Amino acid sequence: MKERLSDEYAAAIRANIADIRARMDKARGERDVTLLLATKTVAPEAINYATQECGVTDIGENRVQELIAKYDDLEKENVNIHFIGTLQTNKVKYIIDKVCMIHSLDSVKLAREIDRQAKKAGKVMDVLIEINVGREESKSGVMPEDFEQFADEISVFENIRVRGIMVIGPICAEKAEYIEYFQKTYAFFLDILPKKIHNIYKPVLSMGMSDNFDLAIEQGSNLIRVGTAAFGKRNYVK
Ligand SMILES: *Cc1c(COP(=O)(O)O)cnc(C)c1O
Repeated sequence: MKERLSDEYAAAIRANIADIRARMDKARGERDVTLLLATKTVAPEAINYATQECGVTDIGENRVQELIAKYDDLEKENVNIHFIGTLQTNKVKYIIDKVCMIHSLDSVKLAREIDRQAKKAGKVMDVLIEINVGREESKSGVMPEDFEQFADEISVFENIRVRGIMVIGPICAEKAEYIEYFQKTYAFFLDILPKKIHNIYKPVLSMGMSDNFDLAIEQGSNLIRVGTAAFGKRNYVK
């Protein structure tokens, strides 16, 4: 059943997005930075309010199941839907025609399937390679030292276009730790750009979330993925 968005919640979303944009403006200088709203657990009415009434152009879902469940209720005009979560190979077929970019490419097997399904769908899928910059054991992503070989291996896939990289940062106690992590990631991004993704128009560095997006932008991110800061705590009572 479709719920109506309460006036209070709508006003909160509007104010939150205005606040995020003000902070982005302060951090970005003259650079373009894309605001992507991470919409897991958020109802379609709230997402549509953000895209139709607050000018948000990019949204990202984490789970295939949830994306499919919400998809018909999402307003899609002038909205780019991204996939930002871990993607299982056998589920690529469900999202191939629904998203404009997959942020979490981290295996050749997954690349092969995205390529295969994209070919079938008659499209070229934009992807970001997820990098495990912090070399954290619990995290997915390609290890920095394996990046070049990985990029070579997937370069044979004609229906995939590598647009840049994505990182899910560690949770840090100190601002300085975030800055160090973001600097390290940006240095890596600059290093690989001329080698592997030099022919790409506006390479994407997808880095920064609610807790730290201004720091991420200051250190070079050009796409931030923000959930909580826009929609409130994920069990937000409407
Ligand atoms: C949920 C999520 C975000 C946003 O997290 P917040 O802390 O709520 O801003 C960003 N990226 C990914 C991959 C996510 O799953």
